[in-house]
Amino acid sequence: MKKTVPLPRIGMRVIKTAVAVMVSYLLFVPFGLLYREELGGILGQMGPLYACIACIICTQSTLGQTFQQGISRLIGVIVGGALGTATLLLGPALDNPWVKIPVLGAVCVAGVWLCLLIKRPTACGMACILPCVILITGVTGVTRYYYAAARMIETVVGLLIALGVNAALPDYRPETERGESDMNVELHNTTRKLCVIGDPVGHSKSPLIQNTMLKALGLDYVYLCQPVPRGKCKEWLDCAKFAGYAGFNATMPHKEELVPLMDQLDQDARLIGAVNTVCIREGKAYGYNTDGEGFLRALADEGIHPAGKTVAVLGAGGASKAVCLKLAQAGAQVIVCNRTLDKAQAICAHDPAHLRPVGFGPEELAQAAGACDLLVNGTSLGMEGSGGQFADFSFLDSLKEGAPVVDLIYAPAQTELLRQAKLRGHQTVNGLGLLVNQAVLSLEYFTDTSIDAAEMKKVLAEVL
Ligand code: NAP
Repeated sequence: MKKTVPLPRIGMRVIKTAVAVMVSYLLFVPFGLLYREELGGILGQMGPLYACIACIICTQSTLGQTFQQGISRLIGVIVGGALGTATLLLGPALDNPWVKIPVLGAVCVAGVWLCLLIKRPTACGMACILPCVILITGVTGVTRYYYAAARMIETVVGLLIALGVNAALPDYRPETERGESDMNVELHNTTRKLCVIGDPVGHSKSPLIQNTMLKALGLDYVYLCQPVPRGKCKEWLDCAKFAGYAGFNATMPHKEELVPLMDQLDQDARLIGAVNTVCIREGKAYGYNTDGEGFLRALADEGIHPAGKTVAVLGAGGASKAVCLKLAQAGAQVIVCNRTLDKAQAICAHDPAHLRPVGFGPEELAQAAGACDLLVNGTSLGMEGSGGQFADFSFLDSLKEGAPVVDLIYAPAQTELLRQAKLRGHQTVNGLGLLVNQAVLSLEYFTDTSIDAAEMKKVLAEVL
């Protein structure tokens, strides 16, 4: 029988990298072609290599490369470049490897330390690469400085090109091109079963996300989609235990109903009063909640640290509750704005020292926006297919300069709220980070393995 070999799929990340590298190459290659000895100086040292490397690092390293992460890398280039160039002042002493090697090590450590000091961990790589590029070379004399300056210019231009290409091209492929092929899981007699339950549940992205991760990690599990009617969690749990499921995720409306059915609850499930992850071990059900922690990790990925800050959360539904309680636990002051005030009050009663309920009128929204350092939308307004939308966005005018705006919604990738906030110059973050981080945490509980979330984000960026 004729066997067809599927072609590797090309995702947007690959396309962005290829475009950025080509632009960098075209920009710098004339320097190499035109270079003559008499041209000398920095221009004579210029070439496309480091710009292309910078493009690859910038476009390949993170899920939906953000402006902030690009800025971090630029800072890394400046820190590493400055330290590396300053070291050249040691002159001929650097020709001695017993001097050069410890100096290079010390410079890299100093660069990393400086980047961490200014809370830019993503800058660390560049802060180490640049001194290595500058110091590990046979170039001597004054040309060393030209060489260092040329490498810095190339790297900075390469990063700027990568950021530009990233902003100009869409993050996601059209729906029709996305990968059902990622759901083609290999099954064996030993394959263990996982699933997501909900009512309805057919729209859930969890099977695509989890099966993609399981495949990438080479774990012998399959993740299914299981409709369970409201009020039938007890029956489902017995069934799952009998059928040998390793665990399952729960979405609306089951998260609260599962709480009393668990043999053991983790701290977050108890705090939030909801279970989104159940592990079945030796016939016992262990309930976890990964939503709140997933949200905090998604913020950290974007360089947002809520401790000591004031956060306005719009909404008081299930997602908002997890977000508010974890923000409060992390040391933030949270203003909970909800249309139904009772629901905001009920959340705030858990931790009145950190949580304050307000209504959802235009003035209340404007006041909350003006008082906060971070605004989070936890309502369904703006969600694909929900039909609901904010009446107006004038409350965004009250936001402090530099206050990020986060939307828990991930479809569409850019809600009208995020678009309006971006127009006003604010950093914006959609709900994809939460979706991925909570899924990674769940999979860690299911499989009892430690998973590299950054690596999984790269894999998932190709299918979501
Ligand atoms: P939920 O429990 O149904 O809560 C919906 C919230 O939206 C409530 O606070 C509700 O206010 C508010 N709301 C709805 N229509 C409104 C309107 N017209 N005006 C003002 N407020 C309105 O839903 P949920 O589970 O918390 O989910 C909320 C959003 O988060 C959804 O869009 C969902 O897609 C998203 N989410 C994302 C992730 C992720 O992984 N990224 C995870 C979970 C949820 P009332 O209380 O007054 O009704």
